Amino acid sequence: MKLILLGAPGAGKGTQAAVISERLNIPQISTGNIIREALRSGTEMGLKAKSFMDAGKLVPDDVVIGIIKDRLAQPDCENGFILDGFPRTIPQAEALDNMGIVIDKVIDIEVPDDVIVTRLSGRRVCEKCGRPYHIVDLKPKVEGICDDCTGALIQRKDDHIDTVKARLEIYHTETEPLKGYYERQNKLSVVEGQNSVEDTIALTMKALEA
Ligand code: AMP
Repeated sequence: MKLILLGAPGAGKGTQAAVISERLNIPQISTGNIIREALRSGTEMGLKAKSFMDAGKLVPDDVVIGIIKDRLAQPDCENGFILDGFPRTIPQAEALDNMGIVIDKVIDIEVPDDVIVTRLSGRRVCEKCGRPYHIVDLKPKVEGICDDCTGALIQRKDDHIDTVKARLEIYHTETEPLKGYYERQNKLSVVEGQNSVEDTIALTMKALEA
């Protein structure tokens, strides 16, 4: 199954994608994680992306489209994949179509802006593996330490409140039009994502079975 998860930053795409990836045994492909990894390794692409990312802006389309092209050419994507954080603009969605990739379903996770702001400003992530936590709702077993890989939990620069607001604005202007794009292709299912992680997982799985 070839899937796309749409939604504002902080809507819970990463968490949902991880669950779907495990249940359907398909790789989760997160452009945000790939870019952060490139940054940690100090590659040219990572350095190019850094200023955009830190400011909460989108990395230019040609850069992310290149990343996705390379990643989808890997053998583990042959039987399907779940895209988390891509596409984020109409040209990115068109690039995917032009690659001849036929997407089966697009799940849009809807969360009101005020909930997003609370979520993201309290979010912490493992600096090693990227697993997300929250200072109130999703604490690790040991404070400041990742349950999975014992990496340190940090606040992403782009989760500071002003940057979150900038990211939301960009989401509404650049990414939200993708809902119409995939609705016209008859592929869109909308899921409410403001309740618990478990509730959202149940709704997402139901949408996948429909
Ligand atoms: P995320 O972890 O998905 O919230 O992504 C973090 C940041 O990476 C975004 O704010 C962008 O700067 C960049 N990024 C990730 N995916 C994309 C994309 N598809 N298009 C443009 N920028 C992206």
